[in-house]
Amino acid sequence: MTTQPTSGGTAGTEAFASGQPGAQRTSGNLLATEGFVVGIELSSSGARQSVALADLNGTILHRVRRPLEYAPDTQTVLGLLDEMIAEVAHPDRLRTGRNIEPRILRVGVAVGGLVEAREGLVKRFHHTPGWINFPLQDYFAEKLGAPCIIDNNANAAALGEYVRGVGQGERGIFYVGLGRGIGGGLVINGRIFRGATCTAGEIGHFFVKEDGPICSCGQAGHLEAIASVQAIVRTMLDLSSEYPETAATLQRVTEGDTEHISVDQIFRLAEEGDPIAQRVVHDVYHYLGMALTNIVHLVNPSMIILGGPGSSPGERLIAPLRERIQKYCLPEASQSLRIVQSALGPEANLLGAVTLALQDL
Ligand SMILES: [Zn+2]
Repeated sequence: MTTQPTSGGTAGTEAFASGQPGAQRTSGNLLATEGFVVGIELSSSGARQSVALADLNGTILHRVRRPLEYAPDTQTVLGLLDEMIAEVAHPDRLRTGRNIEPRILRVGVAVGGLVEAREGLVKRFHHTPGWINFPLQDYFAEKLGAPCIIDNNANAAALGEYVRGVGQGERGIFYVGLGRGIGGGLVINGRIFRGATCTAGEIGHFFVKEDGPICSCGQAGHLEAIASVQAIVRTMLDLSSEYPETAATLQRVTEGDTEHISVDQIFRLAEEGDPIAQRVVHDVYHYLGMALTNIVHLVNPSMIILGGPGSSPGERLIAPLRERIQKYCLPEASQSLRIVQSALGPEANLLGAVTLALQDL
């Protein structure tokens, strides 16, 4: 690997954020035709840790996914990622058989937390204190000897869907990542819209319910505390403890492993008539529908993409949301809107990270 100036990452990020397709690149890699990019996905919970090596067409050549049960501190997460990078970007994999020294040209990182993308900092992860203002861009740039671009995972996934997924050619995309939390990413005319401090699209912290449940951020009544995967499962389990019939159904469908019931299973139970599942699912339609209705009026997107494990019910989730949005939106705002499931699925964040890297070349 050739050591390259790390400042190129910051310049590239700015050019990327500026919305000027022809913005000047400062890294001197414009003539590079031989090389690779590395995409990295990380989350504070440790649930999602992936590293991929991709060619300049974005084809993933090798990937490693190693989730952690528990991520006690920054060093544990970074130590694991360092091992994965060493494996994925091993010099043997970078040989192409030609007489040119191939190299890593860019690194893209999709982060499941608050990120200041222009400065390359992780601002914070809820519940994981060690990351406050952590210079993640510099860390990976130094590790891999290549400029690095970091962004929030929903922003990365939104860009990934625009470039490689279901959002190709769309003028305005709003991506909703329904996972342990809820993230949102906005791509307008092919560019991520980040806002003044890179929190644009944080739909998980939309205030939707007075005196509602406590969110991961500590506030009450945010959407994430009602409609994230963790919230849906927790509410279902809590309520079922008071209803023996539902509790027995949960035992049956999960073969005794109720803690790991999926959102898809809960939506199916609702469809089969379980009253508790119906209550939980109704709240998801109601509050997620409310949030998306407001997004439609603010942004007027041409497409809303639902991704992450919480989107697994597919049309069971999307059809009622579509109905609500059409009912509560101005017809002029929603008439050409399409609401679809992610095409990149569980790969959205990692492919988004690869796309971040490629877009900066
Ligand atoms: Zn919140």
